[in-house]
Amino acid sequence: MLVPGLEFPHLCVQCQDYPCVKTCPVRALSVSKKTGAVIVKTQKCTACGKCINACPGRIPHMHPTGLLGGPDFKWSPKIHDENPQRFYEPLPSGPYMGKTVDRAKVKEDRSRYYREAGWDENGVPKTETLRELELENIDESLKKLRR
Ligand code: SF4
Ligand code: SF4
Repeated sequence: MLVPGLEFPHLCVQCQDYPCVKTCPVRALSVSKKTGAVIVKTQKCTACGKCINACPGRIPHMHPTGLLGGPDFKWSPKIHDENPQRFYEPLPSGPYMGKTVDRAKVKEDRSRYYREAGWDENGVPKTETLRELELENIDESLKKLRR
């Protein structure tokens, strides 16, 4: 979701009845017994978009590669995980007029967020993290982003 200057991740709430999984006509979606996460079999997905419409939060998303919720190879962590310049400019009005956001602090907090999520220093999930989430099938593809 784009909020002026900031990108927030959409997080699946793991609905009790998993409408996304139920609606998939080709059974490309399943639920991990271990974590409750929705697993996508990207080889089966036909990109019909039915799961997106079935989800109350429209969490599933399609990437240019056709992978649903999968890695977006046009995305570069070093470029696209940075806030736009205006995010760091002094606020023009209001009670915080003239205040700025500390770029170094943002960088530090982002690194901490990556670490705690099990991602590498560029914000790409590590192999062991993918294994824990039963997403090892995308590990090979993510190697392109880790370079
Ligand atoms: S987009 Fe893919 S995962 Fe979603 S319902 Fe269609 S085939 Fe299933
Ligand atoms: S993707 Fe949407 S519908 Fe599916 S479990 Fe998550 S929140 Fe529910």
